[in-house]
Amino acid sequence: MRDENCIFCKIANGEILSATVYEDEMFRVILDLGPATDGHALILPKEHFADVCRLDEAYGAGVLPLAAKIGQAMKRGLGCDGFNLVQNNGEAAGQTVHHFHMHIIPRYAGGPKGIAAWEPRTADSEKLAELAEKIRTNI
Ligand code: AMP
Ligand code: ZN
Repeated sequence: MRDENCIFCKIANGEILSATVYEDEMFRVILDLGPATDGHALILPKEHFADVCRLDEAYGAGVLPLAAKIGQAMKRGLGCDGFNLVQNNGEAAGQTVHHFHMHIIPRYAGGPKGIAAWEPRTADSEKLAELAEKIRTNI
């Protein structure tokens, strides 16, 4: 299903031009217009899913192997030394376009830091057990 008001539906289905690096029946991979680093790409399903919680099984199974394929091509083609996979769900998590997408961010040795990075906090075992219980009982 597509959402007529969704820009990523239009891009994924070729109604709006994009710098496309890969396309198959299910996905289009484009370059991000506001890249974190050179070559920053987005995997877009051609169907509309708001976020990972809505993604259907076939797309879910396809997205990670595709991310690995594109990441390998980035290493060969761009000479990057690694890459981050980033996938935001919900505004609190930084999601700004509510059509599932996975970021593939090439990383270059000596390049900008602070991408997909956080300051580690501390957590004692009691707190970890309490948090784990809250998640475990809701699976
Ligand atoms: P997120 O914050 O995870 O929702 O990521 C949305 C990403 O989409 C951002 O990195 C934007 O730079 C990117 N973006 C938004 N509109 C476009 C567009 N028309 N073409 C390419 N990238 C876009
Ligand atoms: Zn959409």
